[in-house]
Amino acid sequence: MSLVIIGSLAFDTIETPLARKEKIVGGSGTYCALAASYFTQPKIVGVVGEDFPQEMMAYFEKRGIDLAGVKIERGKTFHWEARYGFDPNQRKTIRTELNVFKDYKPVLPPDYRQADIIFLGNVDPDQQDEIVAQAERPQLVAMDTINLWINSKPASLWKVLEKVDVFFANDEEIKMLTEEINLVKAGKKILSRGPSFIIMKKGEHGALVLGKNFVFGALAYPCEKVVDPTGAGDCFAGGFLGYLDKINSYDKASIRKATIYGSVMASFVIEDFGIERLKKLSTLEIKKRFDEFKKLVSF
Ligand code: AMP
Repeated sequence: MSLVIIGSLAFDTIETPLARKEKIVGGSGTYCALAASYFTQPKIVGVVGEDFPQEMMAYFEKRGIDLAGVKIERGKTFHWEARYGFDPNQRKTIRTELNVFKDYKPVLPPDYRQADIIFLGNVDPDQQDEIVAQAERPQLVAMDTINLWINSKPASLWKVLEKVDVFFANDEEIKMLTEEINLVKAGKKILSRGPSFIIMKKGEHGALVLGKNFVFGALAYPCEKVVDPTGAGDCFAGGFLGYLDKINSYDKASIRKATIYGSVMASFVIEDFGIERLKKLSTLEIKKRFDEFKKLVSF
């Protein structure tokens, strides 16, 4: 089995009501791959500038992540700045500096083309489309996005959506994309265009999975300590897809379990800034929290 992740490898500047962190390592690809690495050995596709820390590359490798698809270009690494209010679900993007990502043409190395699962993390939808075109026989294509692309490239986004099986998005993004205020109606509109499942991420309220004749709800883990919500969505995707890659099954029962593993991974990353919590995470903690989730919803 193999999971290929295209996403950003980034520097993030994050401001919360309690602290500000300048240029810490982040990126949709970074978060997703680290979360998935607890289940499988993911392969990343992306680009960094010469300023991206070598220790980070070494850490990816230590976690079994394949970096053959990561290009190092002259110039600066992608930089994103965001501010959170007291409500962790409310985030404002202050700036997006694409830098080396701007003219990046993603290329799948030959052994990546055979991947079973492709995750099109949050990057320009035209870049996502180029990746889908290079994959030879994916069993599952999943995709994420962000409001920047919904506003600036809606036509490109819909074009990619038609080729994906699983679409991850938060409720605000879903409503914006479909111009619907009711989430279920909005979800059905997207399902009618191609995807088999939409994973509607609802921040601290959990996730709702909508498919054709399928609906599944997962609570978010009741976290007391929410330090930095960045990466929750990507870690959700990493846990979800990493688990599916590990078990090599895509039936409805597997989708339900994968949703819980996604929620588990998201619940950890928000406990500290950037990737700090992931760096200390053990498989035993993941198992324990998965079991707690089971108790949370059984009655
Ligand atoms: P999440 O909190 O899961 O939605 O993901 C946040 C991550 O996405 C951050 O680490 C950012 O570096 C990255 N990100 C934000 N905007 C973009 C963008 N337009 N393109 C690629 N990556 C982005």
